[in-house]
Amino acid sequence: NNLLAPWTKKLLPSPTAELEAKVARMQQEGSKVYRFGLGQPDFPTPAHAKQAAIDAIHNNFTGYTDTAGILSLRQAVVSSLQEQCGVQYEPDEIVVSIGGKHSLFNAINTLLQQDDEVLLPTPYWVSFPEQIKFAGGIPRFVETDASTGYKVTPEMLEQAISPASKLLILNQPNNPSGAVYTREELDGIAQFCIRHNLWVISDEVYSCFVFQEEGFTSIASLPGMKERTIIINAVSKSYSMTGWRIGYSASPAPVAAAMLKLQSHTTSNPASIAQVAALAALQGPQNGIQEMRETYLARREVLVAGVRQLRGLKCLMPDGAFYVWVDASEWLGKTLCGQTIDSMDKLAEVLLTEGNIAIMPGTGFGSGKHVRLSYAISMAEIEEGLIQMGKLLGYKQ
Ligand code: PLP
Repeated sequence: NNLLAPWTKKLLPSPTAELEAKVARMQQEGSKVYRFGLGQPDFPTPAHAKQAAIDAIHNNFTGYTDTAGILSLRQAVVSSLQEQCGVQYEPDEIVVSIGGKHSLFNAINTLLQQDDEVLLPTPYWVSFPEQIKFAGGIPRFVETDASTGYKVTPEMLEQAISPASKLLILNQPNNPSGAVYTREELDGIAQFCIRHNLWVISDEVYSCFVFQEEGFTSIASLPGMKERTIIINAVSKSYSMTGWRIGYSASPAPVAAAMLKLQSHTTSNPASIAQVAALAALQGPQNGIQEMRETYLARREVLVAGVRQLRGLKCLMPDGAFYVWVDASEWLGKTLCGQTIDSMDKLAEVLLTEGNIAIMPGTGFGSGKHVRLSYAISMAEIEEGLIQMGKLLGYKQ
C-alpha cells in the first residue's frame, strides 16, 4: 500500500458510481428498480447530433484535433454563452474537455497551490471535495440549510473565509439541492469575491433547467466578475449527451492557456466525433431543451407532492436541475423493516433491498440528514416508485 501515491488514501470512490453499479446488477438479475438515484437525463441525444457524429466517421473526421477543441465548436460555445449568460468570450478563452468533470479538474488544478483553501457550499456535488484534495487544496465547507433555500449568503462566506482562501466553487442550479440563485443574491456574493480577491468556479451544467421566474443568471455576467470567474458547462445534461463526454470552460485567456497546457499533456483533444456531435447540438434546433424543461417541471410537481405525503420526509420545491433534496432526518434512530436507521446510507440500503427503490444518500454530498431523489425518470416510474415508498415508509397522519 505504501507503494502508492499519498492521494490514493485521501480520495473517496465516487458514491454515485457505486450505487449505479448495484442497481445495474439488480436489473440484470431481473428485478424492477425504481431509479431515483440516477443523475442523467432519460431522453435520447437529439437526432441531428447523432447524425453529425455518423457523418464525421464516414468523412474520416477521426484524427487529432486542436487540443482546445475545434474552432467551430469553441465559436458555438461563445455564441451559446452570449445567449445564455450575456457574457462575451473569445474562442481562445474556451477549452473543450472530456465532460464538465474534466473541465473542473483542469480548472481546479490550474488555480490551486498546496494548502490553498476553497470555499465550498454544502450540499455540494460529490466530486468537488475529492478534486480539491487531489490538487492539494483544502475544502472549507460552508453549511447551508432549508432556511436560506440551501444557498450561501455573503455573511456565511465571511464566517468561513481565511487568508488561505483562494477560490469559491458555486454550483447553480445545484446538484443535489436544485437551488438557483437570484441576480440579487449573486450580487452580494460577487461583491464578497471582489472584496477578498477570490477566484470563482461557476459550475453551470444544469443552467438549461431553471424553473424560477427570473431565469438563470451567471455570476460571470456581474460587474467585475468575468475576470475572476471560470464558467464550467457541458452538453451532457442540456442535450442529453452524458456518454459523449463533452464539457467546456470559459475563463480569462491566461487561465485557459494554462488549462490547455495541462490538457495537452494528459488527454489531448476530446474525441473528434463527439466534438462534431456537440457542435450540431449547440447549433441545431433548441426546442428539445424546452421540451425537457417542461417534462421535468411536470415531474417535479408530482415528486415533490408525493414526497411531502410520506412519513418522516420534508423537502423544499427545487428551482432547477432535476433533483429533490429531501430531509429524512426524522428517520434517524427509528426502525424500518426491522432495521435501525442509523444513517442515510442505511435508509438508502433498506429502501433498495426491501423496496427496490434506488435513492442517493446525502452523505457523499456533505449531509447526514438528507437523501437526493432524481426525477430524470418517467412519470410512471415516479408514480409507481412513490407508491412503493409509501408501502415502506407510510404516510403522514
Ligand atoms: N457538475 C455537476 C454539478 C454535475 O452534477 C455533473 C454531473 O453529474 C458534472 C459537473 C459533470 O458533468 P459531465 O458529465 O459533463 O462530466
